[in-house]
Amino acid sequence: MSILTAEHISYIYGAGTSFEKQALEDVSFEIESGEFVGLIGHTGSGKSTLVQLLNGLLRPKEGRILLNGKDIWEKPKKIREIRFKVGMVFQYPEYQLFEETVYKDIAYGPKNMGLPEEEIDRKVHAAAEFVGLKPELLDKSPFELSGGEKRRAAIAGVIAMDPEVLILDEPTAGLDPLGRDVLLSQIKSYHDVRKNTVLLVSHSMEDIARIADRILVMDHGRKVMFSTTGEVFSRGGELESIGLRVPQITKIMMLLREQGIPVPANILTVEQAFHEIMNLCV
Ligand code: ADP
Repeated sequence: MSILTAEHISYIYGAGTSFEKQALEDVSFEIESGEFVGLIGHTGSGKSTLVQLLNGLLRPKEGRILLNGKDIWEKPKKIREIRFKVGMVFQYPEYQLFEETVYKDIAYGPKNMGLPEEEIDRKVHAAAEFVGLKPELLDKSPFELSGGEKRRAAIAGVIAMDPEVLILDEPTAGLDPLGRDVLLSQIKSYHDVRKNTVLLVSHSMEDIARIADRILVMDHGRKVMFSTTGEVFSRGGELESIGLRVPQITKIMMLLREQGIPVPANILTVEQAFHEIMNLCV
């Protein structure tokens, strides 16, 4: 069943002024409940505008966004509730930490939802555990945490609202390779356990290849592909023509195939490649 639907949405910044800029043009798609979707596209392709439309921070000039089949702007006064249901982790979310303690920061969203204290407490602890924040950090000031811990605390604040759809905009940006891998596995296990729908915006094709079921590809404000991860990365030439690339390991395996080595198409991770090459050796 479709949880989030975009129907012919268009968005123009500064409409009617000399700065007018069409950021999205006639974009339609359906995201199924429980899917993990990757969103990729060159800088300026409309990704940020799109995710802000999906959680009601921006209102489409044309077209509709449906959550569970209902137009999210049907009752504009209730748009705040949509933002609880479609939780958004912005780029560098740690800059939005502001409370005296990590606990209060994570509790901020559930508190705004008007939940009872015990439920807030349960959600704060569960969210902290998902992102691997030790309970003793909850009483510290967010400013005492390391960069990676701050990032995880900020993400926990959104997870604690238990959104039906979790949108993450470049969650691993600026982290070191280990921090990036750990955070990605935590996001994956959140998805595996909670079975919620996740939309991940990323510049890293390697990250997307490892984690997404389907990929939405944007270019110049238009949707150019929305298909399974294997299918999207098998269209390397088309991706390159819009300034994107396939994961390096996929490219290497494609080159091996061109040389007549019988490895399958659509290899997306180093682990898969290793497995296939070992199979050839036995
Ligand atoms: P992405 O997230 O893929 O980099 P954006 O959604 O940020 O793309 O931008 C899409 C287009 O809209 C770009 O041409 C960008 O310059 C323009 N744009 C984004 N935000 C604004 C804004 N606040 N005012 C005017 N133009 C904007």
